[in-house]
Amino acid sequence: MTLDRQSDLPPTAPRGVGHLRGDRSFPAAARVALGDTQLRRNIGKATGTIRAKRAAVVGEVPDWEDLREAGRALKADTMARLPELLVQLEDNVTAAGGTVHWARDANEANTIVTDLVRATGSDEVVKVKSMATQEIGLNEALAEAGIAAIETDLAELIVQLGHDAPSHILVPAIHRNRAEIREIFLREMPGVDPALTDEPRRLAMAARAHLRRKFLSARVGVSGANFAVAETGTLSVVESEGNGRMCLTLPDTLITVMGIEKLVPTWRDLEVFLQLLPRSSTGERMNPYTSMWTGVHPGDGPQDVHLVLLDNGRTATLADETGRQALHCIRCSACLNVCPVYERTGGHAYGSVYPGPIGAVLSPQLTGVEDNASLPFASSLCGACYDACPVKIDIPEVLVHLRARHVEERRADERLPSPEALSMAAAAWVMADPARYATAQKATRAARLLARGAPARIRSLPPPLSAWTASRDAPAPPRETFREWWARTRGSDA
Ligand code: SF4
Repeated sequence: MTLDRQSDLPPTAPRGVGHLRGDRSFPAAARVALGDTQLRRNIGKATGTIRAKRAAVVGEVPDWEDLREAGRALKADTMARLPELLVQLEDNVTAAGGTVHWARDANEANTIVTDLVRATGSDEVVKVKSMATQEIGLNEALAEAGIAAIETDLAELIVQLGHDAPSHILVPAIHRNRAEIREIFLREMPGVDPALTDEPRRLAMAARAHLRRKFLSARVGVSGANFAVAETGTLSVVESEGNGRMCLTLPDTLITVMGIEKLVPTWRDLEVFLQLLPRSSTGERMNPYTSMWTGVHPGDGPQDVHLVLLDNGRTATLADETGRQALHCIRCSACLNVCPVYERTGGHAYGSVYPGPIGAVLSPQLTGVEDNASLPFASSLCGACYDACPVKIDIPEVLVHLRARHVEERRADERLPSPEALSMAAAAWVMADPARYATAQKATRAARLLARGAPARIRSLPPPLSAWTASRDAPAPPRETFREWWARTRGSDA
């Protein structure tokens, strides 16, 4: 994690997917974020650094493209056989002494975990960073039951103590600078040294001392899972601070909440993903801590092991032949770091637990396309995310598909055609006839009268085209159309 960022965003409530729906659309939130030049500078610097690290370590692997293709094929095969593989996983976890629970949605998952914690008599759990538990709002559900959930990843701890929301999948406190972190620690961390400075090492040591006390006293650990191996019932968490290893081994009870898509069929398949993930996420050749556990081992580690398998919109996503590839995601965050939109707005503007390009295709599908409806439009469709994705998710294809679904669903609800539908119908009418098209091209040239500067740009168009120029210039039409150029240089009509 980074301790020298220098800006902040308007805080949003740290709740899961769906909790923020309707609060604000991406365009409105992005407008606020774009007004913060310090934020743009900091996110740009951070993502640029991670991009360079990733490019260097990916460039070392001669068969990187083959690895990506292997990752894509393994995920596609897993999704095609998901029901049988999940049953195989359940059988093997159970045979190894663990207990498997099935949760249809966030409420069911939160109830299962809350009841399990209550049964231990504990009022505190230590947590490994987990997107699935953020998605279901587990911390808030536990708090309502009087159970404190302590985040132990350093960046997540900063976000939690600051009553803030994560803004990046991998670097959740990317928007906090170290002076702010010092203030948060002094204000919120019991027993912290009042002479604490904002030196990164001192801040990390303060967090370490605070967390050690929690690790040694906690009787329940809660985690997500990066992977689950169906053939052995093994669960795996990859992390880089060692806090995960503590949470997974010290408590008596371990509860893992995992989306049903995190499955791999065989142990051998991990070979592919454990090469793809660290290089794509932190730009490291190998992950510092890769923990794996299979059920219960007498006298060694947690003796009460639970796995909560979470659907929460995933089977509905799986039913969409184009959209289902979003379930292949291994949460590396490479697509965030290359996205020109994310780089300018940061993660809070997405208003969803999953920000950036993957959030734009995953969140609307998990909640229903009309919730988070603006997210599929939060993209320039440049394709950088597709190129960076280690499992070759064609994010632009899914974005276009979700935009079309949104338009179709909205059309079904509207009595009158929208301005967009009217303009598309007009464009289709013009383009259906060569003579109409040529006339329209010539007429468009009149807009040159509005152009200023060199190169000529149009700063303001009359309504309804003013919606375009409200946030960007329009290029001035050329003096000569393509057809006129063709006729002039080739001597015949194009
Ligand atoms: S969509 Fe691909 S690049 Fe983005 S987080 Fe998921 S695996 Fe990584």
